Formats: sequence, C-alpha cells, structure tokens
Amino acid sequence: MILRAPRPAEENPLEPADLPVPDPGPGEVRLRVLACGVCHTDLHLAEGELPLPRLPLVPGHQIIGVIDAVGDGVSDIMLRQRVGVPWLHWACGRCDYCRRGQENLCPDARFTGQHADGGFAETMIAPADFVYPIPAGFPDEQAAPLLCAGVIGYRSLRLSEIEPGGRLGLYGFGASAHVTIQVARHWGCQVYVFTRSEDHRQHALKLGATWAGRAPDKPPAPLDSAITFAPAGWLVPHALRALRPGGTLAINAIHMSPIPEMPYDLIYGERTVRSVANATRRDARELLQLAAEIPIHTDVELYPLAEANAVLQRLKQAEIRGAAVLVLPTRGPGSDGR
Ligand SMILES: [Zn+2]
Ligand SMILES: [Zn+2]
Repeated sequence: MILRAPRPAEENPLEPADLPVPDPGPGEVRLRVLACGVCHTDLHLAEGELPLPRLPLVPGHQIIGVIDAVGDGVSDIMLRQRVGVPWLHWACGRCDYCRRGQENLCPDARFTGQHADGGFAETMIAPADFVYPIPAGFPDEQAAPLLCAGVIGYRSLRLSEIEPGGRLGLYGFGASAHVTIQVARHWGCQVYVFTRSEDHRQHALKLGATWAGRAPDKPPAPLDSAITFAPAGWLVPHALRALRPGGTLAINAIHMSPIPEMPYDLIYGERTVRSVANATRRDARELLQLAAEIPIHTDVELYPLAEANAVLQRLKQAEIRGAAVLVLPTRGPGSDGR
C-alpha cells in the first residue's frame, strides 16, 4: 500500500501497488512481512502533517517479519529469524547525539515508513543493526504494536521520571497507553487515565487503572508524573493542573496542535514539561525484554493489508480498541512464534 500524495484519511490516501521485490544492500536484511501495526504517525504522514522526504512511499513502522535474504557483511545466522523493525530505521553512530546515547535525536536519523519504505507491504529492507529478535511466545500480531506503541510508551515512562509505586496520569488511551499501563502496573504504580472515550475508560479500568475520567476532571490525588498520548495541545494545561509540584509531564507526540497560552502558575513549583522524540535501540531492547517478563498482552484489532485506509480512518476517530494491526496473506504455518 503506497502513499503517492498526502490526503485526508477519508479520501483514502493509500493505494495498492505492485512493486519489485527489493534486494538487501550491504549491511541490510530483507524481511518477509508477517504483520505491521498501524500508528498515529502513519496517519500524520498520510495526511501530510509530517515531512515526506520521498514519495511515493510505503508507510508502516511496527513490523514483524522473517528474514529471507541478507546483504554483504551480514551473517547468514540471521536468515529465518523472526525480527521486529521499529520507527528508528538508522542513526549515524558518529555524531554527538549518537555518542551520548541519544541516537533518537541524531540529525541524520532515518525513520521507517518516512525516509525508507516500511511494512505496509509483503517485503521490506532494514539495516541489520536496527532489527530486534522477537521473544518466542508472542504471536506476530500481538508483537507488532510493541515496536512503536510499546517502545515509545516505554521511553515516555522513563522520561516521565515515574518511580515504582508512584501516581501516574495517562492522557489518551490508545495503542501506546494500553501497553504503557501494563509496564507501570508491573512497577507497582497507581495509574489515572483521562480519555473522552467511554470504551477506552472501561478498557483502562480492566487493565488495572485506579481511576478513569475525562481530561478536564481532577483526579482524586495529585499526580507525580503524567504522559499525554493524544496529539492535542489543549491537554497540556489540564495535565499540569493535575500534577504535583516537582512532577514531570512527558508529551508523547511527534505532532501536536498548538498548546494554549497558560498561566505561569501551572508550571511554577518546579514542574517539568518535556517532549518525547522517537526512541533508541536501548529502549527497544529493554521494552521487548520487559514484554516477555511481565508478560505484556496487547489487545489488537486485525485487518487485511488492503484495508489500511479504513484503519487510518478508524484511528482518526479513536475507534480502535488497543492497537490496529495489518496481517499479511503471505503468513505461513509456524509463524506465530510458538
Ligand atoms: Zn548520529
Ligand atoms: Zn509509531
């Protein structure tokens, strides 16, 4: 499914296309795609809210696949491995950011499904150093949302500076939040969820939320940390109002509507507001390990690849419960990880 030009999701921006099967270059692997999660970022790209450095483009950056070809310099051992590909496609490894462990901020970083063709396809290419073995026991479609929703949610948790047992607020309860709450509960945190959707509030309570309400509501206790997941700037003053002095608000959004003007009092008291941008290889490895330990269960809605436009529309309307995953007809027996 390729994007030739960005359009509103209602106008079906993606179209099916027959592309040549790509060959992996030096240091690269080719995957036979089994499943690919659909992320809000894919919606932003399809609607032209994020830069599109190359068109046409195959979107998709939460990919589970089996390596079926390797390029020069890549060990044959990787052949037939089931791996995941996330949003961070490549970082230079040499700049100041890469050297200090912030490869997510590398100015030359390339992103899957933005600078390079992604996983809304039967095959794709990725650098061998930026794919991750998927723990056995995770079916493909359950593992796919871990690659972005899970990884970026985990980084948001880290940057929110929540401590074990602390009170954490989550604003918006889609794919990323429904994984994040499971890690937070594993750390013994009390989780307060704010969302406009009654269905999402019920989902949050089922996953162990202490309380669920709407964004303007005052939670029953002040929050130590909060994370916003919805790309809505008006949430920020609400989240700050719920935060205790010294608390941190992490904004998990690659694109956001303007943040309204607000009184200084909302950040006075040494409250911190910070954004979360992309994620590192370390984030991906740690989250996948945690996912196996806890174990994390992702709630997924499955769709055939050809229905990618309908999925973008459902995502836009917050109609997905958990995460939406495209499954590929090329899946063979024995690809469910067990
Ligand atoms: Zn770099
Ligand atoms: Zn994503």
